[in-house]
Amino acid sequence: MSLYNWVSERVVLPASDVLLKRSIARDLKFLFDSQWWSRADLEEYQDERLRELIRHAFDNVPYYNDLFKRCKLTPGDIRSQRDLHKIPFLTKDLIRQNFPHRLAARNIPAAQTIAKASSGSTGEPLRYALSKDSYGFKIACFLRGWYWMGYRLGDRYVKLSVHSRGNTEKKIQDRINNCVYVNSPYLTNENVHDCLGQIIRSRAKFIRGYPTVLDVFARHLENGSGERYVPVAISTNGEPLYPVQRKNIEERFLCPVFDSYSAEGVSVMMECPTHQTYHVASEYGITEVLKDGEPVEEGVGEIVGTDLHNYAMPFIRYQVKDIGTVKKKTCACGRGLPLFERIEGRDTDILVTPSGKHITFYFFAVYFMWNEGVEMFQLRQHQPDQMTLKLVPTALFKKQMKDRIHDDIIRHIGEDVHLDVEVVDDIPLTSSGKRRFFVRDPNISMTL
Ligand SMILES: [Zn+2]
Repeated sequence: MSLYNWVSERVVLPASDVLLKRSIARDLKFLFDSQWWSRADLEEYQDERLRELIRHAFDNVPYYNDLFKRCKLTPGDIRSQRDLHKIPFLTKDLIRQNFPHRLAARNIPAAQTIAKASSGSTGEPLRYALSKDSYGFKIACFLRGWYWMGYRLGDRYVKLSVHSRGNTEKKIQDRINNCVYVNSPYLTNENVHDCLGQIIRSRAKFIRGYPTVLDVFARHLENGSGERYVPVAISTNGEPLYPVQRKNIEERFLCPVFDSYSAEGVSVMMECPTHQTYHVASEYGITEVLKDGEPVEEGVGEIVGTDLHNYAMPFIRYQVKDIGTVKKKTCACGRGLPLFERIEGRDTDILVTPSGKHITFYFFAVYFMWNEGVEMFQLRQHQPDQMTLKLVPTALFKKQMKDRIHDDIIRHIGEDVHLDVEVVDDIPLTSSGKRRFFVRDPNISMTL
């Protein structure tokens, strides 16, 4: 451990906690200990917090008070996670209908909450509130997972993002955290080489980014771009990591990949050093895996999350609409945290423009995240130079938004594409029940 690591852990983090009124240092200390608890002790901790959460939701959140009364339930009926099945699911639609007026807790002051919007793995952005406490605890869960890959606070890391870092506060935080922020909005040859140059020059020990982006970067590394820079590890997040991508990234960057999963209302899952499994940060929440409404002990199921820390807007039995494969066994690393074999999926794809730009979903997800006029979107590529963007409007949609959105998207994807913007009533699901936000005609090649 270097002096910089020591100062970051012992001085910088505790001082930032005091300044920002959070307790990540304390949470991290707790999580380092609790990861070795037995499964039974972890469940006991969850049940205790669940009882407190249910009482809070019943007393302070109108939506849950009504729901409990409608279902003839009292807080005393939910004693442990085995009673959770009595409570109906919370869905994205219910959040949209009830947030903030009926889902925000009345006793949590606005100063203690953070407005969040998820990028929406299904292409539909979602707005919600997070208490500062739960935000800090979630960051601590991520940090613990990073320690599993050898990271120590203070180590330099690269964060790859499709958006530029506009906010000065974030830039200051990056300096403090030793984070090198690399903006990669386009995946053209020139841009990828420029970003790779920034990464190599930074000599960062760790890189964090989306699998699709890192996969493209890795292919360029093989093409002989620059000297051999070898990071300690790479952390992937934001979309499913496919085995072929992992293989490619590990082979070209010459370091291991640690994948992770997170979504609103559910616990973070991080890959452990055995690379055999994802551990669920079960101190954060209860993760149910269900098939036809019944718990799955081993195998594929729908992930349903109960967030035990977010008192600002309780997520109780939230259907995140992601699918995972759960494992019953214990892990060779000895941690008691529950296991997932794989996160099966969220539907992502890449579009390729005639000039060779690779367009990923995430730019669009973030772009529409704060656009209150758009409920849902889908971008279809029929020909290399022909795309159609379908928008489902909300009541706040205004006619002039259509032109502005068209121009913004063209600025992003390039003028060599003809884009039609259509305002539609609905975007139908696929035959398998999935909503696809990016649809590329299979005849359009995406080779670099
Ligand atoms: Zn493990």
